[in-house]
Amino acid sequence: MLKGRSAVITGSTSGIGLAVAEALAARGVNLMLNGFGEPGAVESLRAGLAQKHGVRVEYHGADMSRPDQIADMMGKAIEIFGAADILVNNAGIQFVSPVEDFPPDKWEAIIDINLVALFHTIRHAVPGMKQRKWGRIINIASAHALVASPFKSAYVAAKHGVAGLTKTIALETATFGITCNAICPGYVLTPLVQKQIPDTAKARGISEEQVVRDVLLAAQPTRQFVTVEQVAALALFLAGDDAASITGTLQAIDGGWTAQ
Ligand code: NAD
Repeated sequence: MLKGRSAVITGSTSGIGLAVAEALAARGVNLMLNGFGEPGAVESLRAGLAQKHGVRVEYHGADMSRPDQIADMMGKAIEIFGAADILVNNAGIQFVSPVEDFPPDKWEAIIDINLVALFHTIRHAVPGMKQRKWGRIINIASAHALVASPFKSAYVAAKHGVAGLTKTIALETATFGITCNAICPGYVLTPLVQKQIPDTAKARGISEEQVVRDVLLAAQPTRQFVTVEQVAALALFLAGDDAASITGTLQAIDGGWTAQ
């Protein structure tokens, strides 16, 4: 039963995070949204979700590369809702470059936002979950938590790190009614993927159309992008009581990519 629970969803102003927010709100879950965006657009998103689903929706603009801001966001969520029952670690960035040209500041930003931030949100959320003897930690990892691709050294390193973190947290929390799982999507056509198409074209010396056909969709035997709604439906299932025995897993949702 999810109604009346609360969720913190990082990076929920766009793409997968926004779809997860919609899916949880539709089940009566109160939300703490997070992510970047123009203030007017973020406010209409917040108010729209609250009105459509009759749930409380808050927003915190914490930058996931800043542990102090993450602490503030988690503190506010716990103050408002009593606990962050469901934590969806979704915020993420990508940068594509051969390793020898990879700008060190980009490498560090990817590790900070895609991996280190999860340590901070989790460490703030777990005490309240333990107290309530219920919690769901859902890390939006990637097929790149399971396999690598060239030119994505920081992203692949961070997402493989998320896989290890997920398993460790699952073991630490298993007797407290808490589960921790990672969702590993293949390519989903969100701004994150759209932005990397030109850089991948440059790194591989091919056209943008070839990147979509011969790199992105070629990875997926279905030859289809995964949709944000499909990822959100899996997150919703993992948040529910039927998934109480699923913990420490890496759930591929990748059109068969990692079966190869
Ligand atoms: P997106 O670009 O549509 O959304 C990313 C969200 O993260 C946005 O809300 C953005 O504002 C937020 N964000 C970025 N940097 C932030 C920061 N420093 N602090 C706070 N918020 C920040 O991307 P998406 O495709 O929806 O990606 C969401 C997650 O899914 C990421 O972790 C990504 O690695 C993962 N993922 C995406 C795909 C894909 O193909 N799109 C595949 C596998 C995994």
